Amino acid sequence: MRLFLICAAVVFALWLPDPTAGGASRAHLPAAPAAGQVVLPGTPGRYGGLQHLRTPLPPRAIALTFDDGPDPTGSGQVLDILDRKGIKATFFLVGRYVQARPDLVREVVRRGHNVGDHSWSHPIHLRYRSRDAQVREVRGGFDALEAALADAPPGERARLEPFFRFPGLNESAFLSRWLGERGVIVVSAEAGTDDWRGYSAATITRRTLAAMEESNGGVLILHETRPQMILALPGLIDALRARGFTFVQITAGPDGRAQAIAAEDPVFSR
Ligand SMILES: [Zn+2]
Repeated sequence: MRLFLICAAVVFALWLPDPTAGGASRAHLPAAPAAGQVVLPGTPGRYGGLQHLRTPLPPRAIALTFDDGPDPTGSGQVLDILDRKGIKATFFLVGRYVQARPDLVREVVRRGHNVGDHSWSHPIHLRYRSRDAQVREVRGGFDALEAALADAPPGERARLEPFFRFPGLNESAFLSRWLGERGVIVVSAEAGTDDWRGYSAATITRRTLAAMEESNGGVLILHETRPQMILALPGLIDALRARGFTFVQITAGPDGRAQAIAAEDPVFSR
């Protein structure tokens, strides 16, 4: 009889619904730094060995970043590859494309990726514009992202990071300072794939492997607008893993995000 009661209790306990299970409750959890995430501190707030301090990732860890989207063709393909490979990345998006395809931005965050601002219209020589025009480019990008995610669940909306990447990595001293005052982190990179030069998938793979070996990992720039990069991506990820590289996702973390929101004259408000 006693054994029966113990068995019955165990069965009952197994039957009870797990309070932590279910998408609905998870969706409201704050986006705390999770396993596989690396928090970039707000000070000094500019990262990427190409131009600044090395991004503080563990040795042989790579943070994939995808620029210039959302792209009606490329975004979906990149998202499917990242899902298959179990990698969470960061997308630096262009405001006017965000405004055209907010559904793609929602899909990016729904699948667990972070998004940052890559300006409103991608002017390569941002620093030669007036200060007002430079600020408008930053604000236009963040405004478009915030609008696209306005109705997303809070956990997904929190994937809008206080991150800015200069178009063409052509930085403006004025704008870097302006961003820093608002808790926005400038994310450059340890390497690019040069996929925008029109290389073949094989060349992109070879050059990227060499670059990642040289920098021992780091933030890597790819472009979701480049079909040859997308062709190369699955094999490139496999080849990097075979060489002992791992993949991490960069974030400002909940504190960094809260700091940007609390800034005077912030770039986004939620
Ligand atoms: Zn770009």
